[in-house]
Amino acid sequence: MSESQVYSNTDGRFLPDRYIEGTCPNCGYDKARGDQCENCTKQLDPTDLIEPRSAISGSTDLEVRETKHLYLMQAGMRGQLNDWIDSKDNWPILTTSIARKWLNDGDGLQDRGITRDLDWGIPVKRGDQDWPGMEGKVFYVWFDAPIEYIACAGEWAEAHGLDDAAWQRWWRTDMGADDVRYTQFMGKDNVPFHTLSFPATILGSGEPWKLVDYIKSFNYLNYDGGQFSTSQGRGVFMDQALDILPPDYWRWWLLSHAPESSDSEFTWENFQTSVNKDLADVLGNFVSRVTKFCRSKFGEAVPEAGEFGPDEQALIESVTTRVRAYEAHMEAMEVRKSAAELRGIWVAGNEYLQSVAPWTTFKTDPDKAAAQIRLALNLVRLYAVLSAPFVPDAAADMLAAMQTEDDSWPDDVPAALEVLKPGHAFTVPEVAFAKITDEQREDWQERFSGVRE
Ligand SMILES: [Zn+2]
Repeated sequence: MSESQVYSNTDGRFLPDRYIEGTCPNCGYDKARGDQCENCTKQLDPTDLIEPRSAISGSTDLEVRETKHLYLMQAGMRGQLNDWIDSKDNWPILTTSIARKWLNDGDGLQDRGITRDLDWGIPVKRGDQDWPGMEGKVFYVWFDAPIEYIACAGEWAEAHGLDDAAWQRWWRTDMGADDVRYTQFMGKDNVPFHTLSFPATILGSGEPWKLVDYIKSFNYLNYDGGQFSTSQGRGVFMDQALDILPPDYWRWWLLSHAPESSDSEFTWENFQTSVNKDLADVLGNFVSRVTKFCRSKFGEAVPEAGEFGPDEQALIESVTTRVRAYEAHMEAMEVRKSAAELRGIWVAGNEYLQSVAPWTTFKTDPDKAAAQIRLALNLVRLYAVLSAPFVPDAAADMLAAMQTEDDSWPDDVPAALEVLKPGHAFTVPEVAFAKITDEQREDWQERFSGVRE
């Protein structure tokens, strides 16, 4: 399709909208971009900008020229895409509502430009031949990147000396891919490309490529009353996060607060509470108390004496029910509910320990205390297995402390609570989770608050 686009004579190239800067006609911000004003969020066309200039060179020697771009003709597939989305009645509302908005709002689904004037990306060519009129253009990332989901399987096969059938079996329904369960996870801003554009590409090919079975989408995570901003240094980003605390702390908070039903907000107070209460007071405390008490009274091996009584049976039943609920939430990809159930399983162990109080029992009935601790040590191993999806490093440390490699899933919970036999040696682990102090919290709050203007 032919269209008008801004060309920079100084830079010798067409400029994509966001490579043009100028003053926002709406709010007067002098660094507005050709697609949007970051200050007032108004959507813009480059020609709206007052005193436009190239963001590459700063040059104002710009002119509007005719250029050609490729389009994905997805408007013509609106009915087919609509039927496909309608058939996904088990998908999250967030996913289908975004797809339907794009399908139906205004004049309905529009064709989408799939080429860009950028100096990085996959060049637009016909096979390995140049494509007249497409010189210097690359494919738009969201046309190009999903195709690589398939291509990476091809690269995997090639790297392992396998033939094409090895990867086609995952991706071609005529080559055995019908039994593949294909799930995508993404933030809501990427949903249109995965519910519409990429399916249009696949369906439009007329070839039997595997379509996604389930799209789990998430709302936005905000930062302390606003948005994360890389340019303003507002918020804590991956490299900084891992500099100050181990990955498990972040994983736990992010997963237990996943923005599933609405946007969620990171605050340092909430993060501190979650780490200190859930990880340190509940999980970490349980592991530490049980192993230290056993070491001091029975030595560093699972004690043998005593039988399980009604308290132990009640705990085993309660944990069994909770493990089945945890599995159901995990299967349904309900991340927050899974985290809450996992925490409930940790809490059940703590409450049991608090209620049977082996340190008191020991004074009058050491055999009974031994049985209680035998169960509790087995719970430590079970917790390691159950917690691995959320806090994998701590889970690995717990298994190592229990000196076992048995991380099999507890299909039978009572049996799983007898894996560590009497006499099995263990070690007392290092403190698994250190608490976040008020001083640290205040320091980080200040450090990641961004540039104040
Ligand atoms: Zn503005």
